[in-house]
Amino acid sequence: MIEGGCFCGNIRFTIAEKPQGDYLVANCHCSMCRKTSAAPFVTYLVIPKAAFQYKTGTPKILQSSDKSSRQFCPDCGTHLLFATTDRPNNFDITTGSLDEPNRFTPTVNVHEESKLTWLHLQ
Ligand SMILES: [Zn+2]
Ligand SMILES: [Zn+2]
Repeated sequence: MIEGGCFCGNIRFTIAEKPQGDYLVANCHCSMCRKTSAAPFVTYLVIPKAAFQYKTGTPKILQSSDKSSRQFCPDCGTHLLFATTDRPNNFDITTGSLDEPNRFTPTVNVHEESKLTWLHLQ
């Protein structure tokens, strides 16, 4: 079981482990991820929605574009996840909200055209 939550502890969630192999982990460099997280880029764990469950707390949902929404802790503001109608069966979970973020190494970069110029990834 993968577990995570927000900074203040109001929101806790669990993610079922992938039966075989690992979920995709991707860095997104788009300006909306940057702004909503106030971070240079965001690393996401891409999971099936069915694997995700809130245990405590109720998120605030932001409709961040026509297609996309993001969920936050209403108390501390932690960006928890991203959802888009382009991939209706997925949630993209911010790895920074996970209890063991080091378990999840990104293998893909998306929206590199928006990547900050000083950022040099291996
Ligand atoms: Zn919180
Ligand atoms: Zn993005």
